[in-house]
Amino acid sequence: MRSIPRSSRFANGGISYWFRDIGVPERRAPLAGDADYDVCVVGAGYTGLWTAYYLKRERPELRVCVLEREFAGFGASGRNGGWLSAEFSGSREDYARSHGKGSMVALQRALMNTVDEVVSVTEREEIDADLIKGGMYLVADNEAQRERLQGHIEYLQEWGYWPDDFHMVDPSEEPRIAVHGAVAAGYSPHAARLHPAKLVVGLAAKVVELGVDVFEDTPVVEIRPGEKGERPAVVTEHGTVRADHVVRATEGFTSTLRGPRRQWRHTHSSMIVTEPISDESWERIGWEGGEVLGDTAHSSIYSQRTADGRIAIGGRGAPQRLGSAPAEEGLTQPHAIAELWRALTRMFPDVADVPIEHAWAGVLGVPKDWSPTVRLDSETGLAWAGGYSHSGVSTSNLAGRTLRDLILGRSTELTRLPWVGHETRGWEPEPLRWVGTKVVRGLYRTADRRESRTAGKGHTSRLADIATRMPGR
Ligand SMILES: Cc1cc2nc3c(=O)[nH]c(=O)nc-3n(C[C@H](O)[C@H](O)[C@H](O)COP(=O)(O)OP(=O)(O)OC[C@H]3O[C@@H](n4cnc5c(N)ncnc54)[C@H](O)[C@@H]3O)c2cc1C
Repeated sequence: MRSIPRSSRFANGGISYWFRDIGVPERRAPLAGDADYDVCVVGAGYTGLWTAYYLKRERPELRVCVLEREFAGFGASGRNGGWLSAEFSGSREDYARSHGKGSMVALQRALMNTVDEVVSVTEREEIDADLIKGGMYLVADNEAQRERLQGHIEYLQEWGYWPDDFHMVDPSEEPRIAVHGAVAAGYSPHAARLHPAKLVVGLAAKVVELGVDVFEDTPVVEIRPGEKGERPAVVTEHGTVRADHVVRATEGFTSTLRGPRRQWRHTHSSMIVTEPISDESWERIGWEGGEVLGDTAHSSIYSQRTADGRIAIGGRGAPQRLGSAPAEEGLTQPHAIAELWRALTRMFPDVADVPIEHAWAGVLGVPKDWSPTVRLDSETGLAWAGGYSHSGVSTSNLAGRTLRDLILGRSTELTRLPWVGHETRGWEPEPLRWVGTKVVRGLYRTADRRESRTAGKGHTSRLADIATRMPGR
């Protein structure tokens, strides 16, 4: 097996390539002592910042602060694959059982509209995030994947997709992107490519401009629910903030907070990015429309052509060590880098000699039923949103607008969506959770290998069916 070409500038970790590209910003001042606000948000990723943005835009007189342990964008929001899509990790059937099918269809349509909402807010607020709405292109590289993709598209048409919203294309007749070995492809216009760190940094600057106090280097050690007439409180190393409403927007880091430790499991996701690719290679590859590109393997990948002419590709890779904490500096493991490189060069043999310039990892929050939630508990004044798994770039915007309506006490189309108030059981304690995840990952990998060997047969491996029914999925 040939070795992975590494750039002389190769780096592993250091938050992400996105922050290396624009530079890690200077940190804002921490909280100076005890304080009082109308709304206090914990966590300055997309969820926290969109919530602060929409609240302040709607009610400029509200006193809103955001408390961030590191700096705005330190978490998944500054590390992700830049897919702004209508993808959704939750169980449509579960939401439909509790709220009716029409309500789930409304949620799916709301997610499609969310892509356009982010496009229009970034334009209106002049946040330059290299955003292009080029749609989502999913390829199948064997018959089992083709069958699955076709089946998935048909399934989605039961849940709010019209034929134009997602359809099969023939990759040989309509080669938007010349993916080697692709036997089929699906295309949805409801997606955009963006530069994650530019979005989060631009959004943080915008909320500060609107009058939100963003305190960085301010770790929250405890969130206390309001009770007996007392308002909720957020305890930090620098002082305590009291507010009418406290929003927990800590996603993959939630497991490190006292209290909701087992609500969402933190799972690592890794990415690599190439050096800039030559114009000749781009001519052969195409990929000119800003599409986000993925595949339909069980251990699926997500990728984008960056604005500066590279390929950034990520995947579920990087199994954690037992009891590992959320990836702080974003260091990723050599085998995760190797897996991503193999996926990259399988799809684009042309770039096999292009050196890899950066590798990194981040954490996502995964609920036991994989269904995200947004919620306000009016008794305690605590609100939260998350559990988005791999689909949080647009979902966090929908969450921010929904939290605005909940906090302002409004009953709206958004607050009636079925993920609002959704509850699920917490994860098993370690080591059960870890063992389950390892087994599921192993089954999916073997299923992928078996499917690629049985070319022409075209059925999803039974091992994948077993894995899908397991809780560690
Ligand atoms: C590598 C990777 C690739 C991904 N790719 C995609 C993609 O292409 N498309 C997609 O839709 N989704 C993707 N995701 C998921 C998506 O990035 C997240 O769902 C989304 O960014 C979550 O935003 P958030 O604001 O809820 O959480 P985060 O961005 O994680 O923000 C949480 C913040 O809380 C802060 N915090 C934590 N604990 C404390 C504390 N005690 N006190 C104060 N602050 C605290 C953290 O420092 C962090 O800044 C990806 C995720 C990763 C890791």
